[in-house]
Amino acid sequence: MTDETLDAHGDWILVSCPCCGESLEILIEAETVGSLVQDCEVCCNPWLLTVRRRGSELEVRVEAS
Ligand SMILES: [Zn+2]
Repeated sequence: MTDETLDAHGDWILVSCPCCGESLEILIEAETVGSLVQDCEVCCNPWLLTVRRRGSELEVRVEAS
């Protein structure tokens, strides 16, 4: 299958930092699901990301870790 609209590398998701309030795009890799920790690129505080998938729908929650 050669569907070029399908990005096998992941999805860019716009999130708001719970610490500094900045909006930025993060890459959620195609295999990523569950909880992970990632640092804010702006204020360097750690986030707790919760990634859920329902079919092709991606749901990402960001909390201060
Ligand atoms: Zn931040």
